[in-house]
Amino acid sequence: NRTPLIAGNWKLNLDHLQAIAFVQKLAWSLDDAKHDFAGVEVAVFPPFTDLRSVQTLVASDKLPIAFGAQDLSAHDSGAYTGEISGAFLAKLECSYVIIGHSERRTLHNETDEVVAAKVQAALRHSLVPIICVGETAEDLETHGPSAVPVAQLRAALAGVTSAADIVVAYEPVWAIGSGQAATPDQAEQVAAALRAVLVELLGDDVAAKTRILYGGSVKAANIAGFMREPNVDGALVGGASLDLDEFASIARFKQ
Ligand code: 13P
Repeated sequence: NRTPLIAGNWKLNLDHLQAIAFVQKLAWSLDDAKHDFAGVEVAVFPPFTDLRSVQTLVASDKLPIAFGAQDLSAHDSGAYTGEISGAFLAKLECSYVIIGHSERRTLHNETDEVVAAKVQAALRHSLVPIICVGETAEDLETHGPSAVPVAQLRAALAGVTSAADIVVAYEPVWAIGSGQAATPDQAEQVAAALRAVLVELLGDDVAAKTRILYGGSVKAANIAGFMREPNVDGALVGGASLDLDEFASIARFKQ
């Protein structure tokens, strides 16, 4: 009963002209394949500077592709040079915003507290946060598979009420960009532990409708295995989301 979400995190790739060409072709490609859009939601996460162009294209051609940003400020406005607020993203009709990606946590020192503040900022503007959690190879060895992702999710949900609409993305750091994806079994084990946290903190109803994505070296050849798992409701795709045919194949995982 949860609509699968296939999300492409472009990271620092594709300028606004490349973005327009890509999104247009993606829509054609999904349409060609008689993609059942009611069955799977496809979303792209371009750099900030592409968002206005993507918004205009999606709106004018009524493309069934959702979009969002890769990050946002914890603040709504003020003296925060270089930041982008949730208010601006909402004006651009973003549906989603990725929060706490491991690259933000490690390269930009985003702590659990910063992630929680950004989740609040997203919710203030009716953006659905895609809360990223995941353990490093070292964490996995020391603490086992679920401890770090579970702790990160608990921290990110501080102050979140059961009325909130959220998505959780489990991305083991060791699987990101490594070509070494988790096994469907591993992903399911952590996704189940994350759903138990949702039950505990937000209640059965929210936990039952919240989508949990797997991310880390997802490609057309391995997506079906993840999607067969009961607690995995989609994928957050990095590298393979920049290859049109590959990403379209991932979105058509059912066929
Ligand atoms: P890759 O798909 O390139 O491993 O990246 C995953 C990711 O970080 C998506 O947010």
